[in-house]
Amino acid sequence: MAMRLALILFYASMTASLVFGLADPSWWMLPAALAGWYVADAASGLIHMYMDYRPTREGLGLDRLYFYEGSRESAEYQAMFRAAMRKLNPIERLVYDFKNHHPRPHALGRRKLGRQINSTVVFGTLPLSLLLNAACVAFAPPGWLVIGLLVMLVGGTYAQYFHGTLHRETNPWFVQMMRATGLLMTPEAHEKHHATLRQDFSTNCGWSNPVLNRVFAAMRARGRMADAGLEPR
Ligand SMILES: [Zn+2]
Ligand SMILES: [Zn+2]
Repeated sequence: MAMRLALILFYASMTASLVFGLADPSWWMLPAALAGWYVADAASGLIHMYMDYRPTREGLGLDRLYFYEGSRESAEYQAMFRAAMRKLNPIERLVYDFKNHHPRPHALGRRKLGRQINSTVVFGTLPLSLLLNAACVAFAPPGWLVIGLLVMLVGGTYAQYFHGTLHRETNPWFVQMMRATGLLMTPEAHEKHHATLRQDFSTNCGWSNPVLNRVFAAMRARGRMADAGLEPR
């Protein structure tokens, strides 16, 4: 119930900013939208990088879940999974999902939309969207800026959904269309991440991957992002 209210508030807040932005149209909206899409892609990559390499909390049985060899449909596994997930906060659940998606990428594709976007909305894009509403009232920013920020929020909100579409055989028409125009990356391009786990962390359009790959290499050179964080212990 609380989640449904949060989603209603989120979409109402985004619609309010959209109406505000469109009331002041200009050609600057196009580059602003592309820039917003780029920033959302970079955010998806930075968060993915952090989650992949952030160690999980020990002693919760996450290692047993991760390395479980029997059937994941079994009652034993399902009970273990639910018990472990209850002890995690939403960020820790995301951390586990990112790590788990490396050996089992299709699990992410099967997750329901809510599991993919709800924590992003509650902890990320809803507060930012409300701030944008407040900024519209207080400072009356130009329409192109509002549209660019809105596009960024849309890209950020659906980042895990878009990542999931890279690990699913069938996708809605708009995903195919966005891939064809380069607004979303292809599964082949995302394979480069899964091949090494050391590059191409961005999962929306992938435009920011060349820059983020340099960031990752620089952090590794400083001894950060150690391989030990990649799997639960
Ligand atoms: Zn990863
Ligand atoms: Zn993936």
